Amino acid sequence: MAHKVTLIPGDGTGPEVSESARRVLEATGVQFDWDIQQAGTDVMEKLGTVLPEETLKSIKRNKVAIKGPITTPVGGGFRSVNVALRMALDLYACVRPCKTYKGVRSRYDKVDIVIVRENTEDLYAGIEFEKGAPETKRFIKYVSKLSGQKIREDSGISIKPISVTGTKRIVKFAFEYARKNDRKKVTAVHKANIMKFSDGLFLSVAREVAKEYPGILFEDRIVDNLCQQVVARPEEYDVLVLPNLYGDIISDLCAGLIGGLGVAPGANIGDGCAVFEPTHGSAPKYTGMNRANPTATILSGMLMLRYLGEKEAANRLEKAVAAVIAEGKHVTYDMKPTRDDPTAVGTSQMADAIIAKLKEV
Ligand code: NAD
Repeated sequence: MAHKVTLIPGDGTGPEVSESARRVLEATGVQFDWDIQQAGTDVMEKLGTVLPEETLKSIKRNKVAIKGPITTPVGGGFRSVNVALRMALDLYACVRPCKTYKGVRSRYDKVDIVIVRENTEDLYAGIEFEKGAPETKRFIKYVSKLSGQKIREDSGISIKPISVTGTKRIVKFAFEYARKNDRKKVTAVHKANIMKFSDGLFLSVAREVAKEYPGILFEDRIVDNLCQQVVARPEEYDVLVLPNLYGDIISDLCAGLIGGLGVAPGANIGDGCAVFEPTHGSAPKYTGMNRANPTATILSGMLMLRYLGEKEAANRLEKAVAAVIAEGKHVTYDMKPTRDDPTAVGTSQMADAIIAKLKEV
């Protein structure tokens, strides 16, 4: 029976990479019944919203979605559609496997780290007070009185909530992931030495949860120290569990270790739904140029196949992607020795090469 899946092309280079992923997924032989839905800047003018209700309803109905990246303006403008989607569907776990494939342009060759990022709390919760707004002035006055600490009047404020409930479920998710995928160690990442009541709570809850999994090693690292350690000795890390903001930053750091954003896939998972998407953004400067690397979205599709129970197709797809990367011929500009290499192929041609390889593996 065909899998009913919501497909959100996204904006910027999103439509190009998601179309490549759709073609490759179909070429695995697995049957899909795509429910194509819109979100992002491209629908704003038509529907007056960046996240139409119908798109949310479709994901709730189908339980599984794959999406291209969506642009978020920096500073002002609307809030991130991606964050809104994760919040609305309570997709609390962002899973980003970072693995080096032979042939990628990276200084490292043995990276195999899985990032488990909390997706609903922390500075991403969207509780913000704009500089100078009347409620901000009231808030500053109230908190200054309550804490006895001075906050400058010309401050903008973002709140960082981290709860026992949110931490427990993400750390459990990380350990369950480790158990099911035969992983040996979970490292909790935090800045508990400075933020004692938010990151400190994250760490103490993580330590409690770890006791329920005696077969899996547990350790913790302060986030700044982790940055230098992951760069110096990535092979020492296995599964990382992090609050939202550190998870976002360390995801891109680890993407850098494995050959760049063009090859880093991801999944946002909740108890009822899952949305698969690359780690990278909409790379708007390449829009419509058939230049963006489709690998991250295609590998997100591979994660989706595993989620749907299509293990054999997922393994074949991963092998086909790995073979095309290892050959290094039909790959996009970012996988070539120099950025202006004339032998680089376009987004859709790299997808074609993976489709052709699927017949051989
Ligand atoms: P980005 O990931 O879009 O691009 C950063 C750089 O990485 C690009 O300039 C490009 O050199 C490279 N890159 C990214 N994807 C690539 C690909 N597939 N192939 C080859 N090179 C690639 O990050 P940004 O420029 O910071 O963000 C652009 C927009 O995307 C912003 O509006 C941001 O908010 C949004 N964004 C969306 C998501 C999402 O949809 N989940 C995630 C991150 C950023």
